[in-house]
Amino acid sequence: MPAILVIGGGVIGLSAARCLQKAGYAVHIITRELPEASASMAAGAVWSGSDLYGVQRQWAAATLEYLLAQAAIPDSGVSLRTMREVFAQPVPDPWYRELLPAFARLPAAALPPGLAAGYRLQVPIVAPPIYLRRLQAQFLEAGGTLETRALDSLEQVAGAAPIVVHCSGVGARKLAADSGVYPIRGQTVLIDAPHIRSGYMDNSAIDHIFPRSDGVLLGGVKLPGDWNREPDAAISADIIARASAIEPSVAAAPRLRHFVGLRPGRAQVRLEAAALPAGGAVIHNYGHGAVGYTLSWGCARAVLALVRQLEAR
Ligand SMILES: Cc1cc2nc3c(=O)[nH]c(=O)nc-3n(C[C@H](O)[C@H](O)[C@H](O)COP(=O)(O)OP(=O)(O)OC[C@H]3O[C@@H](n4cnc5c(N)ncnc54)[C@H](O)[C@@H]3O)c2cc1C
Repeated sequence: MPAILVIGGGVIGLSAARCLQKAGYAVHIITRELPEASASMAAGAVWSGSDLYGVQRQWAAATLEYLLAQAAIPDSGVSLRTMREVFAQPVPDPWYRELLPAFARLPAAALPPGLAAGYRLQVPIVAPPIYLRRLQAQFLEAGGTLETRALDSLEQVAGAAPIVVHCSGVGARKLAADSGVYPIRGQTVLIDAPHIRSGYMDNSAIDHIFPRSDGVLLGGVKLPGDWNREPDAAISADIIARASAIEPSVAAAPRLRHFVGLRPGRAQVRLEAAALPAGGAVIHNYGHGAVGYTLSWGCARAVLALVRQLEAR
């Protein structure tokens, strides 16, 4: 099998690399930062299908199947948890209700004040520090190679491999000269609260309480256009105050870690093959916004399908 070059070591690049490798390809990754320094480390990271349409639903369904299988593996960093997902407006039953191990509508009496609807569901939640480390270790153990290097353009690697898979997240603004890509800054707080076993998600207020295998993750914020990667103490205090209003016991729980990550914002995910002007083919796979984990494995499979199509030409 010919070698494939993957650019980017976040959840999107690592998933694509591992999926290609499992299909028999030799894969080399070039990434400016190791996975532990990528935006993907800061994610919640819950499988969340509610705001998805079109092909994204196929990618999310494929990822859900994959993550549910991972949740059955000890130390995978993926756990299956019960969550309440709540909405300010009435919502229909979601497209994914039959795909989840458990789903029910919340009765009105179980809704927090001011909210119009809610679900109680079981979904996979990923602990990125564990999940990404494991994915990277599996990739390297299976013979993959990883190089930390910042690229200035895709042309720089033209000719390095017949196919380049481009997964640089918000870095695509520069690497693909795509002005439609922008950062949506996020910040989260990981606390030690093993007594919290079920989660809470209000995506309009960005109130998140996610019990993971490495702690309970509290979020969050969405700040479009903000490139600052340093934690802001006032934002952390506000996140904890909002979470305490939902689950009072979080106020006194020990803080383990603060995360900041830049979600790769774009009107739509870009997942398509293109020709590099200097020769060779590139498969773009970036712009996953707030749902990169939800789409990750389905997008990796779509990349594999595009690689096979390119080879068949
Ligand atoms: C606070 C927060 C909460 C989130 N919660 C969820 C959630 O609950 N569920 C969910 O599904 N998603 C969630 N997300 C979204 C998800 O984390 C992102 O969509 C996903 O991490 C994007 O992954 P990526 O690999 O494309 O980008 P990144 O993780 O940013 O990785 C990009 C990689 O490209 C490399 N790179 C960039 N530029 C260059 C260059 N010039 N040369 C070489 N390498 C380069 C970087 O070093 C990095 O390794 C959340 C995100 C944040 C920040």
